[in-house]
Amino acid sequence: MSTPSLLILPGDGIGPEVMTEVRRIIDWFGKRRAIAFDVSEDLVGGAAWDAHGTPLSDATMARAQAADAVLLGAVGGPKYDDLDFSVKPERGLLRLRKEMDLYANLRPAVCFDALADFSSLKAEVVSGLDIMIVRELTSGVYFGEPRGIFTENNERVGLNTQRYSESEIARVARSAFELALRRSNKVCSMEKANVMESGVLWRQVVQEVHDAEYPDVELSHMYADAGAMQLTRWPRQFDVIVTDNLFGDLLSDLAAMLTGSLGMLPSASLGAPMANGRPKALYEPVHGSAPDIAGQGKANPIACILSFAMALRYSFDLGAEADRLEAAVQQVLADGLRTADLLGPAGGTPVSTRGMGDAVIAALDAGL
Ligand code: NAD
Repeated sequence: MSTPSLLILPGDGIGPEVMTEVRRIIDWFGKRRAIAFDVSEDLVGGAAWDAHGTPLSDATMARAQAADAVLLGAVGGPKYDDLDFSVKPERGLLRLRKEMDLYANLRPAVCFDALADFSSLKAEVVSGLDIMIVRELTSGVYFGEPRGIFTENNERVGLNTQRYSESEIARVARSAFELALRRSNKVCSMEKANVMESGVLWRQVVQEVHDAEYPDVELSHMYADAGAMQLTRWPRQFDVIVTDNLFGDLLSDLAAMLTGSLGMLPSASLGAPMANGRPKALYEPVHGSAPDIAGQGKANPIACILSFAMALRYSFDLGAEADRLEAAVQQVLADGLRTADLLGPAGGTPVSTRGMGDAVIAALDAGL
């Protein structure tokens, strides 16, 4: 087998800072675990605009399409606020998602024990939480036609269309069932079948895919509004949640906040399998470029480190190595090391971005 390729796009603001720590961890896996990647680096967002006058060049897009996985830092910043909408840094990210057809967005919500006090919920409600929200990312009301603002009967009318085809629902349902097989074998599908035809079809198709292909996975259905309540009341009842683009947008942010800081949240966006069996894949922290702290060594690199752990698990089938990296992060937090965003009332030992990277590498060493 040839060495798997990993394209790194650090981007803007704190993106390059957190990615520097991830690159040290990738090197660690090469040296200490003999797990090699063919790593290349390129520009996206404002950095690409500065160099090439576009937030994502065609050449970078082609490299992303050819890579086994893409790992992105963050894009954007005040310097680019006045750019035309069509060339803003975020357009680079959107182009990647669109052209790679990344239809399944995976957002884990994991509560690290050492950070349970950070949640807005009681520690006993979130402690031990480990759920995965799978959001459909390329269809639904954000993309449906017709759309626009029209004049009708002498007043303005805003219109968006919630539209899902069977095949769009079936493929994201399969992503959720496949994930459940690697986890606790449980999927909850959320929609609004009580008031929306697209929700009725969503429920039918998810059930059909289940019955035909994944009968051994435990499947339940819930209205998305009830799901939001249950997520805050008793989040540990869930394992994998699959939902559409709009509800997923809201529910994944809600679930993320159960766990505390933005600096801790990884994500993956997956598409169809490539010829080598690996899915098209883009891994990135949920946070943005954090211009308020960029260049100061204050950024928490854990979200980006955990995004690389997701790549190990979902692109490279290295689940045990992903476990190893996540355990190292868990250990560092248990030891009380905290970047500024994690320094709550309970205190801890303040560390810089580099200090957090050092600590994770030391914990990886200690775990061998
Ligand atoms: P942000 O996520 O960049 O920052 C929000 C707050 O969280 C800030 O106070 C920031 O300091 C803090 N924060 C974020 N990540 C952190 C980390 N790793 N460690 C410590 N603190 C962290 O969101 P924003 O301020 O709304 O947006 C800033 C820029 O990022 C904008 O240009 C926006 O468009 C862009 N953005 C990009 C992405 C992306 O690349 N995926 C996502 C969101 C926002």
